[in-house]
Amino acid sequence: MSGGAGKAHAVQLAPPALAPWAASPVGTAYVQERTSGQAGPEVLLTALVHGNEYSGAWALDAFLRSGLRPRRGRITAAFCNMAAFARFDENQPDASRFVDEDFNRVWAAGVLDGARRSTELDRARDIRPFVDRASHLLDLHSMHEPCAPLLVTGLLPRNIAFAQSLGTACQAIVDGGHADGVRMRDHGPFGDAHGDRIALLLEAGQHWEPTSLQAARNVLMRFLVRSGALDRQDVPAGWLQPDATPPAPVQVTHRVVARSMDFSFAQDFSGGETIPAAATPIAWDAGQPVLTPYDDCVLVMPSVRQLRPGVTTVRLGRRA
Ligand SMILES: [Zn+2]
Repeated sequence: MSGGAGKAHAVQLAPPALAPWAASPVGTAYVQERTSGQAGPEVLLTALVHGNEYSGAWALDAFLRSGLRPRRGRITAAFCNMAAFARFDENQPDASRFVDEDFNRVWAAGVLDGARRSTELDRARDIRPFVDRASHLLDLHSMHEPCAPLLVTGLLPRNIAFAQSLGTACQAIVDGGHADGVRMRDHGPFGDAHGDRIALLLEAGQHWEPTSLQAARNVLMRFLVRSGALDRQDVPAGWLQPDATPPAPVQVTHRVVARSMDFSFAQDFSGGETIPAAATPIAWDAGQPVLTPYDDCVLVMPSVRQLRPGVTTVRLGRRA
Protein backbone atom coordinates (compact mmCIF):
# COMPACT_ATOMS: atom_id res chain seq x y z
CA MET A 1 0.00 0.00 0.00
CA SER A 2 1.29 3.40 -0.91
CA GLY A 3 2.24 5.35 2.16
CA GLY A 4 1.06 3.34 5.14
CA ALA A 5 0.13 5.80 7.85
CA GLY A 6 2.35 4.04 10.35
CA LYS A 7 6.06 3.52 9.89
CA ALA A 8 8.15 6.32 8.44
CA HIS A 9 10.43 5.74 5.45
CA ALA A 10 14.07 4.99 6.22
CA VAL A 11 16.31 8.03 6.52
CA GLN A 12 19.02 7.21 3.95
CA LEU A 13 20.27 10.78 3.64
CA ALA A 14 21.45 12.32 6.90
CA PRO A 15 20.55 15.95 7.67
CA PRO A 16 23.10 18.52 6.48
CA ALA A 17 25.26 20.54 8.88
CA LEU A 18 24.12 24.12 8.28
CA ALA A 19 25.90 25.95 11.10
CA PRO A 20 28.32 27.62 8.63
CA TRP A 21 25.39 29.59 7.20
CA ALA A 22 23.94 30.87 10.48
CA ALA A 23 25.99 34.07 10.50
CA SER A 24 24.48 36.16 7.73
CA PRO A 25 26.13 39.04 5.89
CA VAL A 26 22.64 40.40 5.21
CA GLY A 27 21.54 40.36 8.84
CA THR A 28 19.04 37.48 8.70
CA ALA A 29 20.25 34.17 10.12
CA TYR A 30 20.64 31.38 7.56
CA VAL A 31 20.24 33.75 4.61
CA GLN A 32 23.31 34.09 2.37
CA GLU A 33 23.85 35.96 -0.86
CA ARG A 34 26.26 35.89 -3.78
CA THR A 35 26.50 39.01 -5.90
CA SER A 36 27.92 39.70 -9.36
CA GLY A 37 28.08 43.48 -9.30
CA GLN A 38 26.29 43.36 -12.68
CA ALA A 39 22.67 43.98 -13.53
CA GLY A 40 20.64 40.83 -13.80
CA PRO A 41 18.12 38.54 -12.19
CA GLU A 42 17.34 38.64 -8.49
CA VAL A 43 17.24 34.91 -7.76
CA LEU A 44 16.00 33.49 -4.46
CA LEU A 45 16.64 29.82 -3.67
CA THR A 46 14.76 28.51 -0.65
CA ALA A 47 14.97 25.23 1.26
CA LEU A 48 13.54 23.87 4.52
CA VAL A 49 10.19 25.62 4.14
CA HIS A 50 9.20 22.28 5.67
CA GLY A 51 11.68 21.34 8.39
CA ASN A 52 12.07 17.67 7.50
CA GLU A 53 12.55 18.22 3.74
CA TYR A 54 16.28 18.74 3.65
CA SER A 55 17.39 17.42 0.25
CA GLY A 56 17.05 20.99 -0.99
CA ALA A 57 19.14 22.22 1.94
CA TRP A 58 21.89 19.82 0.85
CA ALA A 59 21.69 21.31 -2.65
CA LEU A 60 21.85 24.89 -1.31
CA ASP A 61 24.75 23.92 0.94
CA ALA A 62 26.60 22.45 -2.07
CA PHE A 63 25.96 25.62 -4.07
CA LEU A 64 27.23 27.88 -1.27
CA ARG A 65 30.32 25.73 -0.65
CA SER A 66 31.17 25.64 -4.35
CA GLY A 67 32.16 29.30 -4.34
CA LEU A 68 30.08 29.88 -7.48
CA ARG A 69 29.11 33.49 -8.02
CA PRO A 70 26.51 34.77 -10.45
CA ARG A 71 27.73 36.33 -13.68
CA ARG A 72 24.69 38.60 -13.62
CA GLY A 73 22.43 39.77 -10.83
CA ARG A 74 22.31 38.29 -7.35
CA ILE A 75 21.62 34.87 -5.90
CA THR A 76 20.16 34.66 -2.40
CA ALA A 77 19.95 31.34 -0.56
CA ALA A 78 17.58 31.03 2.41
CA PHE A 79 17.20 28.10 4.80
CA CYS A 80 13.68 28.87 5.96
CA ASN A 81 12.18 26.92 8.86
CA MET A 82 15.35 26.33 10.87
CA ALA A 83 13.37 26.01 14.13
CA ALA A 84 11.55 22.98 12.76
CA PHE A 85 14.69 21.55 11.13
CA ALA A 86 16.52 21.81 14.48
CA ARG A 87 13.98 19.34 15.89
CA PHE A 88 14.61 16.72 13.21
CA ASP A 89 14.75 13.24 14.77
CA GLU A 90 15.35 10.28 12.49
CA ASN A 91 13.22 8.15 14.81
CA GLN A 92 10.29 10.51 14.19
CA PRO A 93 11.24 12.05 10.86
CA ASP A 94 7.73 13.17 9.94
CA ALA A 95 7.35 15.17 13.17
CA SER A 96 9.54 18.16 12.27
CA ARG A 97 7.59 19.51 9.29
CA PHE A 98 6.81 22.64 11.32
CA VAL A 99 6.73 23.91 14.91
CA ASP A 100 3.41 25.80 15.25
CA GLU A 101 1.94 25.89 11.75
CA ASP A 102 2.77 25.26 8.10
CA PHE A 103 5.32 27.89 6.96
CA ASN A 104 3.94 27.51 3.45
CA ARG A 105 0.40 28.67 4.31
CA VAL A 106 1.13 32.05 5.95
CA TRP A 107 1.98 34.12 2.86
CA ALA A 108 -1.20 36.17 2.46
CA ALA A 109 -0.29 39.86 2.96
CA GLY A 110 -3.04 40.20 5.57
CA VAL A 111 -1.56 37.36 7.63
CA LEU A 112 2.02 38.66 7.34
CA ASP A 113 0.93 42.22 8.18
CA GLY A 114 -1.37 41.10 11.00
CA ALA A 115 -0.72 40.93 14.72
CA ARG A 116 -0.79 37.16 15.14
CA ARG A 117 2.53 35.49 15.95
CA SER A 118 3.93 31.98 15.66
CA THR A 119 7.34 30.47 15.13
CA GLU A 120 6.64 30.23 11.41
CA LEU A 121 5.05 33.67 11.03
CA ASP A 122 7.99 35.33 12.78
CA ARG A 123 10.38 33.59 10.42
CA ALA A 124 8.25 34.36 7.36
CA ARG A 125 8.37 38.05 8.30
CA ASP A 126 12.20 37.79 8.47
CA ILE A 127 12.37 36.12 5.04
CA ARG A 128 9.73 38.32 3.40
CA PRO A 129 12.06 41.13 2.20
CA PHE A 130 14.04 38.57 0.19
CA VAL A 131 10.85 37.13 -1.31
CA ASP A 132 9.57 40.60 -2.13
CA ARG A 133 12.74 41.56 -4.01
CA ALA A 134 13.10 38.29 -5.98
CA SER A 135 12.52 38.20 -9.72
CA HIS A 136 12.99 34.40 -9.72
CA LEU A 137 12.08 32.07 -6.83
CA LEU A 138 12.91 28.37 -6.66
CA ASP A 139 11.47 26.72 -3.55
CA LEU A 140 12.99 23.28 -2.87
CA HIS A 141 10.75 20.64 -1.28
CA SER A 142 10.45 16.86 -1.19
CA MET A 143 7.66 14.32 -0.80
CA HIS A 144 6.33 11.83 1.75
CA GLU A 145 6.46 8.94 -0.72
CA PRO A 146 8.98 7.83 -3.34
CA CYS A 147 7.96 9.60 -6.56
CA ALA A 148 9.63 11.03 -9.65
CA PRO A 149 10.37 14.77 -9.27
CA LEU A 150 7.57 17.30 -9.86
CA LEU A 151 7.66 21.04 -10.54
CA VAL A 152 4.62 22.78 -9.07
CA THR A 153 4.01 25.82 -11.25
CA GLY A 154 0.79 27.46 -10.07
CA LEU A 155 -1.66 28.49 -12.77
CA LEU A 156 0.24 31.22 -14.62
CA PRO A 157 1.44 30.34 -18.14
CA ARG A 158 4.85 32.02 -17.68
CA ASN A 159 5.76 29.62 -14.85
CA ILE A 160 4.56 26.58 -16.76
CA ALA A 161 6.67 27.64 -19.76
CA PHE A 162 9.71 28.28 -17.55
CA ALA A 163 9.39 24.82 -15.96
CA GLN A 164 9.06 23.16 -19.36
CA SER A 165 12.17 24.98 -20.64
CA LEU A 166 14.57 23.72 -17.95
CA GLY A 167 15.51 20.53 -19.82
CA THR A 168 14.53 18.16 -17.02
CA ALA A 169 12.14 15.20 -16.97
CA CYS A 170 10.20 16.81 -14.10
CA GLN A 171 6.44 16.56 -14.40
CA ALA A 172 4.90 20.06 -14.27
CA ILE A 173 1.91 20.16 -11.91
CA VAL A 174 -0.41 23.09 -12.62
CA ASP A 175 -2.06 23.69 -9.29
CA GLY A 176 -3.90 26.67 -7.84
CA GLY A 177 -2.64 26.25 -4.29
CA HIS A 178 -4.39 25.55 -1.03
CA ALA A 179 -7.65 26.73 0.49
CA ASP A 180 -6.07 26.84 3.95
CA GLY A 181 -3.48 29.51 3.23
CA VAL A 182 -1.20 31.15 0.66
CA ARG A 183 2.08 29.47 -0.31
CA MET A 184 5.31 31.46 -0.48
CA ARG A 185 5.46 30.84 -4.25
CA ASP A 186 2.04 32.50 -4.67
CA HIS A 187 2.89 35.54 -2.50
CA GLY A 188 2.29 39.07 -3.80
CA PRO A 189 3.61 39.80 -7.29
CA PHE A 190 4.33 36.13 -7.95
CA GLY A 191 0.60 35.67 -8.31
CA ASP A 192 0.12 38.68 -10.62
CA ALA A 193 -1.16 37.48 -13.98
CA HIS A 194 0.26 40.59 -15.66
CA GLY A 195 3.66 40.46 -13.96
CA ASP A 196 6.88 38.82 -15.02
CA ARG A 197 8.18 37.23 -11.82
CA ILE A 198 8.93 33.53 -11.94
CA ALA A 199 8.23 31.12 -9.07
CA LEU A 200 8.56 27.34 -9.11
CA LEU A 201 8.31 24.77 -6.34
CA LEU A 202 10.28 21.55 -6.76
CA GLU A 203 9.13 18.31 -5.15
CA ALA A 204 12.45 16.52 -5.61
CA GLY A 205 11.46 12.97 -4.58
CA GLN A 206 11.13 11.22 -1.23
CA HIS A 207 12.47 13.36 1.65
CA TRP A 208 15.40 11.19 2.66
CA GLU A 209 16.51 9.49 -0.55
CA PRO A 210 19.89 10.47 -2.07
CA THR A 211 18.26 10.71 -5.52
CA SER A 212 16.21 13.66 -4.21
CA LEU A 213 19.42 15.59 -3.55
CA GLN A 214 20.61 14.85 -7.11
CA ALA A 215 17.28 16.05 -8.52
CA ALA A 216 17.35 19.21 -6.38
CA ARG A 217 20.90 20.05 -7.48
CA ASN A 218 20.07 19.47 -11.15
CA VAL A 219 16.98 21.69 -11.07
CA LEU A 220 18.73 24.35 -8.97
CA MET A 221 21.62 24.69 -11.42
CA ARG A 222 19.33 24.66 -14.46
CA PHE A 223 17.15 27.31 -12.80
CA LEU A 224 20.22 29.53 -12.27
CA VAL A 225 21.29 29.12 -15.91
CA ARG A 226 17.77 29.67 -17.27
CA SER A 227 17.33 32.81 -15.15
CA GLY A 228 20.56 34.21 -16.61
CA ALA A 229 22.46 34.34 -13.30
CA LEU A 230 24.94 31.69 -14.50
CA ASP A 231 26.13 30.36 -17.83
CA ARG A 232 25.92 26.66 -18.46
CA GLN A 233 29.70 26.25 -18.52
CA ASP A 234 29.81 27.58 -14.95
CA VAL A 235 28.04 24.49 -13.60
CA PRO A 236 30.44 22.07 -11.87
CA ALA A 237 30.95 18.71 -13.59
CA GLY A 238 28.51 16.08 -12.40
CA TRP A 239 25.91 18.49 -11.05
CA LEU A 240 23.65 18.36 -14.10
CA GLN A 241 21.67 15.31 -15.09
CA PRO A 242 21.39 14.68 -18.86
CA ASP A 243 19.04 16.98 -20.78
CA ALA A 244 15.54 15.57 -20.90
CA THR A 245 12.19 16.46 -22.41
CA PRO A 246 9.46 16.94 -19.81
CA PRO A 247 6.06 15.31 -20.20
CA ALA A 248 3.05 17.51 -20.91
CA PRO A 249 1.91 19.44 -17.79
CA VAL A 250 -0.83 18.00 -15.61
CA GLN A 251 -3.57 20.40 -14.55
CA VAL A 252 -4.90 19.54 -11.09
CA THR A 253 -8.71 19.53 -11.10
CA HIS A 254 -9.67 17.78 -7.87
CA ARG A 255 -8.30 17.01 -4.44
CA VAL A 256 -9.39 13.83 -2.71
CA VAL A 257 -9.84 14.67 0.96
CA ALA A 258 -10.10 11.87 3.51
CA ARG A 259 -13.41 11.83 5.36
CA SER A 260 -12.39 9.11 7.80
CA MET A 261 -9.40 7.28 9.21
CA ASP A 262 -10.70 4.25 7.30
CA PHE A 263 -9.15 5.42 4.01
CA SER A 264 -7.00 3.20 1.78
CA PHE A 265 -5.96 3.22 -1.86
CA ALA A 266 -7.23 0.47 -4.14
CA GLN A 267 -3.70 -0.19 -5.44
CA ASP A 268 -0.14 0.60 -4.50
CA PHE A 269 -0.09 3.93 -6.38
CA SER A 270 3.12 5.96 -6.44
CA GLY A 271 1.89 8.97 -8.44
CA GLY A 272 1.88 9.69 -12.15
CA GLU A 273 -0.46 6.81 -12.98
CA THR A 274 -3.11 7.52 -15.63
CA ILE A 275 -6.44 5.78 -14.92
CA PRO A 276 -8.09 5.19 -18.33
CA ALA A 277 -11.78 5.02 -17.45
CA ALA A 278 -14.01 7.41 -15.54
CA ALA A 279 -15.70 6.00 -12.43
CA THR A 280 -12.79 3.64 -11.60
CA PRO A 281 -12.42 3.13 -7.83
CA ILE A 282 -9.00 4.42 -6.76
CA ALA A 283 -9.57 4.33 -3.00
CA TRP A 284 -12.03 3.41 -0.29
CA ASP A 285 -13.10 5.84 2.43
CA ALA A 286 -15.39 4.66 5.25
CA GLY A 287 -16.54 1.82 3.02
CA GLN A 288 -17.37 4.07 0.05
CA PRO A 289 -15.42 4.01 -3.22
CA VAL A 290 -13.53 7.10 -4.39
CA LEU A 291 -14.09 7.21 -8.17
CA THR A 292 -12.11 8.89 -10.93
CA PRO A 293 -14.19 11.80 -12.27
CA TYR A 294 -13.18 11.45 -15.95
CA ASP A 295 -11.26 9.32 -18.43
CA ASP A 296 -7.43 9.47 -18.41
CA CYS A 297 -7.26 10.84 -14.89
CA VAL A 298 -3.68 11.36 -13.58
CA LEU A 299 -2.89 10.69 -9.90
CA VAL A 300 -0.62 13.25 -8.24
CA MET A 301 1.23 12.63 -4.96
CA PRO A 302 -0.91 9.88 -3.38
CA SER A 303 -0.14 9.51 0.32
CA VAL A 304 -1.92 8.53 3.50
CA ARG A 305 1.12 9.25 5.64
CA GLN A 306 -0.57 12.14 7.44
CA LEU A 307 -4.03 10.60 7.28
CA ARG A 308 -6.78 12.23 9.24
CA PRO A 309 -10.20 13.51 8.21
CA GLY A 310 -9.76 16.65 6.10
CA VAL A 311 -6.27 15.82 4.78
CA THR A 312 -5.65 15.65 1.02
CA THR A 313 -4.69 12.08 0.11
CA VAL A 314 -4.24 12.51 -3.64
CA ARG A 315 -4.73 15.18 -6.30
CA LEU A 316 -6.39 14.34 -9.60
CA GLY A 317 -5.47 15.98 -12.87
CA ARG A 318 -5.64 16.06 -16.63
CA ARG A 319 -2.68 16.07 -18.95
CA ALA A 320 -2.69 19.22 -21.07
ZN1 LIG B 1 7.23 20.67 1.46
